[in-house]
Amino acid sequence: MHSVSVKNVSLNFGAASVLKNMNLDVEEGEFIVLLGPSGCGKSTLLNCLAGLLELSEGQIFIKGKNVTWAEPSERGIGMVFQSYALYPQMTVRGNLSFGLKIAGLPKEEIQKRVERASEILQIGPLLDRKPGALSGGQRQRVAIGRALVRDVDVFLFDEPLSNLDAKLRGELRVEIKRLHERLKNTMVYVTHDQIEALTLADRIAVMKGGVIQQLDDPQTIYNRPSNLFVAGFIGSPSMNMLHGEIKNGVFHGKDDLLVDLRGYEGGTQVDRAKAILGFRPEHITIVDTAEPGRTIPAIVEIDEHLGADALLWLEAAGQQVCVRIPVEGRLAAGTKVHLRLDMGKASIFDSVNEQRV
Ligand code: ADP
Ligand code: MG
Repeated sequence: MHSVSVKNVSLNFGAASVLKNMNLDVEEGEFIVLLGPSGCGKSTLLNCLAGLLELSEGQIFIKGKNVTWAEPSERGIGMVFQSYALYPQMTVRGNLSFGLKIAGLPKEEIQKRVERASEILQIGPLLDRKPGALSGGQRQRVAIGRALVRDVDVFLFDEPLSNLDAKLRGELRVEIKRLHERLKNTMVYVTHDQIEALTLADRIAVMKGGVIQQLDDPQTIYNRPSNLFVAGFIGSPSMNMLHGEIKNGVFHGKDDLLVDLRGYEGGTQVDRAKAILGFRPEHITIVDTAEPGRTIPAIVEIDEHLGADALLWLEAAGQQVCVRIPVEGRLAAGTKVHLRLDMGKASIFDSVNEQRV
C-alpha cells in the first residue's frame, strides 16, 4: 500500500490546464520533493493532496483510502506553508494547541503533544512568547510544530524556507532532514530550490507545465537527467551543452570538433542528425596537450573564485563552457588549454525530441 497515491489527476482553472493527467505514488515514510520553476503547478498539486482544491479529474488515495472527496481534516495530513500564518495575538503555546482544542482533544493530550513538539523542535523556551517576538526561523519552527502536534501520517510542506535568509534556510533544512529521520513520516515537500531538493529528497519529482518530467532519486536526477529540461534545471552552474551531429559514434561539433563517444553509458549507437552533448562543470579536467577525439581546445575567459573551489569560464568550439576547478588550478584569461571530458558521466540528448539517448 502506498502512503499517498495520485491517480490520473487533472486540474483546470477555467480554460487553463494546470495539472495534466498526473500520476505519483509515494511510499510509506518517503521524503518526496516536488521541484520545478514558479507556476509549474507544485502548490496546486499539494493543495489537491490537502483537500483545499477540487480535482477536475482523477483520484487521490492516502494510506489506501480514497480521499478524493474527503474534507482536509479527514485526510490525516498536516500542512506547513511558506507564510507562517501564526495567530499574532496568541502565544506559541496557544498557536500549537489551538487546532487541537477546536478538535476537542482532552487537555492532558494537548499538553503532551505540545511538549513533544516543542522538545523535537527545541522551541520550549519560546512557548510563552507571541509570534511578534520571534525571529523568522523561530516562527517557521512554530509553524512546523503546528503540523507536528496533529500527529498525522503525511506532512505537506509548501516552500517552508523561502522567506528565510540563506544562512537560516541552510540551518532549518538540516533540521527538517533530522525531523524526518526521527519521525519517519511521509513528507511531500514543494520547492523551486534545487539544493533543497537534492539534499532532502529520497526521490525528486521534477515538474514543468503541470507534468512530472522525471521521478528519481537525487543522484539519478543529477547524473542521468531524462530530458533537456531536467538537465538544464538541475545543477549550478548549468550543464554545458554542445550542439552538433553524431555519426558512427563520434560527435561532430562546431569548429571541426570531434569527440569520440566511447565510454558513454548509453553506448555509441546513438547517431542523430541533431544532438546535444552535455557535461557538467565538474566532469571536465584541464590538460596541457591535445588528445585527438578526447579533448576540446579552449581559451580561458574568466576565472571566478568561490572559496572552496573556482569556476573557469572558457570559449570552446564556438561556445561558452564552464569548468569547476580546485582553487590552486586557477588560470589567467587568454590561457590556451584543452578540456578532457569524462565520457562516462556525459549526457547525450536528441535535439529534436529533447530526450536523453
Ligand atoms: P507553483 O506552486 O509551481 O509556483 P501554482 O501551483 O501556484 O505554481 O500555479 C500553477 C499555475 O496555476 C500558475 O500558472 C498559476 O497562475 C495558476 N493558478 C494557481 N492558482 C490559480 C487560481 N486560483 N486561479 C487561476 N489560476 C491559478
Ligand atoms: Mg507555489
